[in-house]
Amino acid sequence: MVLAEDVHKSFGSLEVLRGVDLAVRPGEVCCVLGPSGSGKSTFLRCINHLEKIDAGRIWVDGELIGYRQRGDKLYELREKEVAAQRRSIGMVFQRFNLFPHMTVLENVVEAPVRVRRENRSVARERAEALLARVGLADKLATYPGQLSGGQQQRVAIARALAMEPKLMLFDEPTSALDPELVGEVLDVMKDLARDGMTMVVVTHEIGFAREVGDSLIFMDGGVVVESGAPREVIANPQHERTRAFLAKVL
Ligand code: ADP
Ligand code: MG
Repeated sequence: MVLAEDVHKSFGSLEVLRGVDLAVRPGEVCCVLGPSGSGKSTFLRCINHLEKIDAGRIWVDGELIGYRQRGDKLYELREKEVAAQRRSIGMVFQRFNLFPHMTVLENVVEAPVRVRRENRSVARERAEALLARVGLADKLATYPGQLSGGQQQRVAIARALAMEPKLMLFDEPTSALDPELVGEVLDVMKDLARDGMTMVVVTHEIGFAREVGDSLIFMDGGVVVESGAPREVIANPQHERTRAFLAKVL
């Protein structure tokens, strides 16, 4: 579902990604660990072409992201084509970014109606089902400002799912939450994983990685330092930098 080969990305003279490889099979949950500044968010943003990569290739579900290949030359896709690719990739951020002036239901209905030109009552029905699934059936008419952080993040997940993505990217979805609200968001993500959603999850939640992750990569300094089955990497890290990081977060 995701294949990244030798991805490079610099901001000016700062080389943030220095040859990242990743393969995520359909239905797999891949957890991305690593210290702050190691390039995790940048890499996620490259997967849906929010950042343009300088070198390498990324495919999602067999489609080359951001480019069309002719012979061995790459041509940048037009904004419209990039937007179409992005529609099939859901993204959830640390900050929920809900529309504050819209109700919970309107937040989830908005994109399918505006972007996919979906019939409003069809979109509304699916939105209600999704909000029930994330445990917010009784909050449809509530405004984001009246919700807890955990509830807002669950709305954000429902909103991403409303576009029926084939891949979900999570960038530290629980890092901004009070500790007592982390579990309810992780539970929703577990449910999604059980349902077969392909997910790439940047997280410091080692328990989640161990329990739900099918694979784990550890990034540091813009490269994948170590990867493998979460249980094995966590129990028996091979690399000194992985050991040092785990010692801090465990
Ligand atoms: P992580 O998510 O692992 O904490 P990031 O991908 O956010 O790491 O950032 C990696 C490095 O890239 C950091 O040094 C950060 O300051 C830098 N960086 C990220 N985005 C930009 C940007 N748009 N412009 C300049 N530097 C950036
Ligand atoms: Mg980050």
